[in-house]
Amino acid sequence: MSAEEYVKLEQTYGAHNYHPLPVVISKAKGVWVWDIEGKKYIDMLSSYSAINQGHLHPRIVKAARDQLERVSLTSRAFSNDRMGPYLKKLCELSGMEMALPMNTGAEAVETAIKLARRWGYEKKAIPDGKGEIIVCENNFHGRTTTIISFSSDPGSKKGFGPFTPGFVNIPYDDIPAFEKAINENTIGILVEPIQGEAGIHVPSPGYLKGLRRICSEKNILLILDEIQTGFARTGKMFAFEHEGIKPDVLCVGKALGGGLYPVSAALSSRDVMSVFSPGSHGSTFGGNPLACAIADAALDVLVDEDLAKRSMEMGDYFVQKLKALKCAKMKEVRARGLLIGVEFHLGPEETVRPICQRLMEAGVLAKDTHEKTVRFAPPLTITKAEVDWAMERIAKVFEAQ
Ligand SMILES: *Cc1c(COP(=O)(O)O)cnc(C)c1O
Repeated sequence: MSAEEYVKLEQTYGAHNYHPLPVVISKAKGVWVWDIEGKKYIDMLSSYSAINQGHLHPRIVKAARDQLERVSLTSRAFSNDRMGPYLKKLCELSGMEMALPMNTGAEAVETAIKLARRWGYEKKAIPDGKGEIIVCENNFHGRTTTIISFSSDPGSKKGFGPFTPGFVNIPYDDIPAFEKAINENTIGILVEPIQGEAGIHVPSPGYLKGLRRICSEKNILLILDEIQTGFARTGKMFAFEHEGIKPDVLCVGKALGGGLYPVSAALSSRDVMSVFSPGSHGSTFGGNPLACAIADAALDVLVDEDLAKRSMEMGDYFVQKLKALKCAKMKEVRARGLLIGVEFHLGPEETVRPICQRLMEAGVLAKDTHEKTVRFAPPLTITKAEVDWAMERIAKVFEAQ
């Protein structure tokens, strides 16, 4: 079959809830992917940071294969020999005390919301049903009906109401707005340490520290969504480490599954997590032995290959090269580690999609985030030579703008 035929099949039988670039991938290894005709591309999206360890990392693939010879699914009706050791590793790595295993990122956020709400009612005696969680404008936390209820993106919400109440929207990176929004029914704030989907928005230095201080003073929860920023993407194992703070609740996903499998979790302290009791929350596939074996190996790779350090070094190198480009249309480069956004000066109706299309033709797979920004977020295993390979092509495309 030709690429056109595969695309047509997808469009005929698959709902049109995405607008992919017209490349049909059939193979991958490390930072590279190949289309059905054997053309090679460098993956600069990493499935929105779900492939921090690189495509098909041999150690993670081996862990999956080995586990597939033993047991894949037990349900939480029984214990398995994979979940305990893996959760211990995840807790120690993140500095949290307990974890609740789920599958997708949105489920981790839903878990955090339920956890925070119950904590608010049971531990803070907020009147039942009155609890408020503060969120930020331009947030992205997933696609469930409750999560889109507090999205400020009309495209994510239109036609999906009625919406879940109990959320208060404030501007991002605005400490005074946060202080003003707090009242006696406030449970906490749910926030991304860097807004990824909004266009790689890095908040001012001290923002997370400020949130932490206020949350502690007011006895409310700091709930960080590190589904995209976590696991070494920004040059530290978690983005909160840049400001030397710790959240009360942490949502992780994406790279936790090493690019092989959906694995997510909500983490917290023993005290907060104690509000969950048997029957109050769950997931058939959450914590299954295959997921745990894969995530366990995915964490080992991040630590053993020191991917946080590599992300920092390669990120700095990449950004320095981007900033040196001669391209009048380039407006700003925003980055932390290997989470990089390049914003363009464009007309009100224009997007960077044509630029992404040209990058694709040149062998670089990148996608727009928020219309005017191209995101570069390659696997963290990327080498200097591979950055150079990509930059050569990016330079040609950008400098022709
Ligand atoms: C991707 C993402 C999610 C949702 O994860 P899914 O696995 O797609 O449900 C939530 N929050 C952030 C910050 C994300 O980047």
